[in-house]
Amino acid sequence: MRVLKFGGSSLADADRFLRAADIIANNAQQEEVAVVLSAPGKTTNKLVAVIDSALNGGEVDQQINEVESSLFDLFGEIEAVVGSLNSEGFKSVVADSMENLRQFVHGIALLGMCPDNVNARIISKGERASVQLMKAVLEAKGQPASLIDPVSYLIAQGPSLEAMVDVELSSQNFRVHPLPKGHVNIMPGFTAGNDKGELVTLGRNGSDYSAAVLAACLRADCCEIWTDVDGVYNCDPRLVDDARLLKSLSYQEAMELSYFGASVLHPKTIAPIAQFHIPCLIKNSFNPQGAGTLIGQDTGEDNLAIKGITTLSDLLMVNVSGPGMKGMVGMASRVFGAMSAAGVSIVLITQSSSEYSISFCIESEDKLRAERALADCFELELKDGLLEPVEFIDDLAIVTLVGDGMRTSRGVASQFFSSLAEVNVNIVAIAQGSSERAISAVIPEDKISEAIKACHENLFNSKHFLDVFVVGVGGVGGELVDQIERQQEKLAEKGIVIRVCGLANSKGLLLDGDGLPLESWRDRMKDVSERFSVAALAAHVQRNHIINPVLVDCTSSEEIANQYADFLAAGFHVVTPNKKANTASMAYYHQLRDIARSSRRKLMYETTVGAGLPVIENLQNLIAAGDELEKFNGILSGSLSYIFGKLDEGMTLSEATNIAKENGFTEPDPRDDLSGMDVARKLLILAREAGMNLELEDVEVDQALPPGFDDSGSIDEFMARLPEADGYFRDLSAQAAEEGKVLRYVGEILDGRCKVRIAAVDENDPMYKIKDGENALAFYSRYYQPIPLVLRGYGAGTEVTAAGVFSDVMRTLGWKLGV
Ligand code: ADP
Ligand code: ASP
Ligand code: MG
Repeated sequence: MRVLKFGGSSLADADRFLRAADIIANNAQQEEVAVVLSAPGKTTNKLVAVIDSALNGGEVDQQINEVESSLFDLFGEIEAVVGSLNSEGFKSVVADSMENLRQFVHGIALLGMCPDNVNARIISKGERASVQLMKAVLEAKGQPASLIDPVSYLIAQGPSLEAMVDVELSSQNFRVHPLPKGHVNIMPGFTAGNDKGELVTLGRNGSDYSAAVLAACLRADCCEIWTDVDGVYNCDPRLVDDARLLKSLSYQEAMELSYFGASVLHPKTIAPIAQFHIPCLIKNSFNPQGAGTLIGQDTGEDNLAIKGITTLSDLLMVNVSGPGMKGMVGMASRVFGAMSAAGVSIVLITQSSSEYSISFCIESEDKLRAERALADCFELELKDGLLEPVEFIDDLAIVTLVGDGMRTSRGVASQFFSSLAEVNVNIVAIAQGSSERAISAVIPEDKISEAIKACHENLFNSKHFLDVFVVGVGGVGGELVDQIERQQEKLAEKGIVIRVCGLANSKGLLLDGDGLPLESWRDRMKDVSERFSVAALAAHVQRNHIINPVLVDCTSSEEIANQYADFLAAGFHVVTPNKKANTASMAYYHQLRDIARSSRRKLMYETTVGAGLPVIENLQNLIAAGDELEKFNGILSGSLSYIFGKLDEGMTLSEATNIAKENGFTEPDPRDDLSGMDVARKLLILAREAGMNLELEDVEVDQALPPGFDDSGSIDEFMARLPEADGYFRDLSAQAAEEGKVLRYVGEILDGRCKVRIAAVDENDPMYKIKDGENALAFYSRYYQPIPLVLRGYGAGTEVTAAGVFSDVMRTLGWKLGV
């Protein structure tokens, strides 16, 4: 014997209803089946709304008519497919129950209240319609069917809207009045009968429990819950795109998961089936071929210590504290006694080991009752100051990790909490059950989505998301976007989803929470209007629950660089080839690093020196390992490497500069290179990285022009005047050549000072051979001397710089890259 339960989602329209009927009929061919049905679609919600309207003067008649017609419509649509259906049972049940509903509603409005037993009768009407319709459909298919009346078979105790079934007593009913053999026996879910024979309900979403109870009473071989998803996932598939389907779960795991919010299964479902070791299979009525999830003995197939992450929302936390709490016997029992007497259910409890306070979570709707109950119960203590005024923290949610394997695996809690910290979630309280099967954190409700996504990414080795916002989409920025487009697929194969969610230039900003389509981004940038701002980007990130936003600044703007602190504080990683932030004041330099640390975000600027060459990373590694920079010299400018290289070949400065300019090796205004300020900034970045406290003004800069050279006027005027500098350089070169040396424009760090100057170097110097736009950096350190650590290669160019930025973007993922 199998028990099959179909939820409202599996009965919501004709097509679904008929699929359910097919599944039932097919199963009935193989063995005896009993069936439990929910109300079609959202019928129960609509009935709850009717009661609400009756109490609050809403459009009750219209609502009832709508329920009635939706049920008749369903019947009509099904009949249109099946052909002739016996409509007798269905029509009379629906007509009677709607008539009865109209009378109830009248009474409720008069009374101004709805007693629980009436409430139960109203909200369970949808289930009655479902079973009549299913019986008619099965009979039309030639499958004999009968109905089970849960009010007479299932004996329940407790509140009329949250009753619990007594399986022992109910089993006897099934023994005394056995169900007809060879029939599909169909029972409406969600209801049972109390000892007075009145109808009671089993709590919202309670048809799962009905099925479990029926399976237990009939000692069924299996209880199948047919729903609209393929089984139980490791987290709510509505919240996480790549949620993982679980093959199996132990009863205890399933219990914890459902208790802490996995709505796929009602929390009360597990106890009855676990008691009789009945396996429970969760299956998708839209995909009957799928294997589903088996709850019973955990087969270990999933090989996971943590099985799932769940959330419960609409909660608040109550803090009862005060000097009178310590050592006072019976405080906890009084607090919880008061809650129980007031009918407030407690979701989670934590107590500090100092016994100074007890904190617990309850549902938000119970706040007033809890407040009153505590005020009454502790009136004296509150008056005498033995208790502080009770604190209520609103708008909270609980995130819970569940898994049998957590008992034996280490580090789960730390990964859990660091995942929450990573997305800036403040943990209000923590609780771990003594079973060690579940660990919960109470967090602000508006952070649920971020919390779940971060935990899922980190704890399940699932996909990692990188959501990039590029400011400045000219040369390097534009190339970066193109490189991302080319690389997206390959990264996706490795489980890294990189999306460009925002593009900005001086004209405006383009945003898309799902990632912009990258084929046509240049066209779309033509008509942007929204202004770029930290606030606009931060709001977008919040709205779309983006957990790994990366701001990439490809401008050379000081204004944007000044906003890095705000971006880091708002949860963005910042990646930049822009030198302005790292060469601003030392105070800002430290501020950025402090904020990055406290908000657990990364500030990456590898491409500010030597473009794509791994300069910063290597220097950081040396310093971290205890090395010290004693001396540095290097050619840090691609354009000046090119120009000075040409001087060796006998070219004049003006000729070399002109060619470099024409080939795009210089800035549009070559004075930006020749002034030496670009090299000065790079040198300062290196010096600060090596631990020196210097400002940009402290860098001594000799420009790459003769002393006192007039560099005023427009670019053309300047270029026209440049040949006047040729003589000076010709003489310098000749002098150097006499000594077997060449001229190079170098940046030097020595004895705590930074200097940028024209130097004559001999063939033993690592800079001697550096020309044609190449960069070279020689680090003389405690460990690297007298032969320095030299890095050389192209230190400029759009492609290498963009590739360097790209690799910084990837490195924001940190350790996750290695998984
Ligand atoms: P039914 O109408 O069949 O009773 P429910 O809506 O009550 O269906 O439960 C199924 C829904 O539970 C799914 O559509 C899914 O969105 C939600 N759900 C929440 N958490 C989980 C989870 N961990 N695994 C599967 N589904 C989940
Ligand atoms: N129809 C009821 C509800 O929506 C019971 C159920 O479907 O599980 O709560
Ligand atoms: Mg359900």
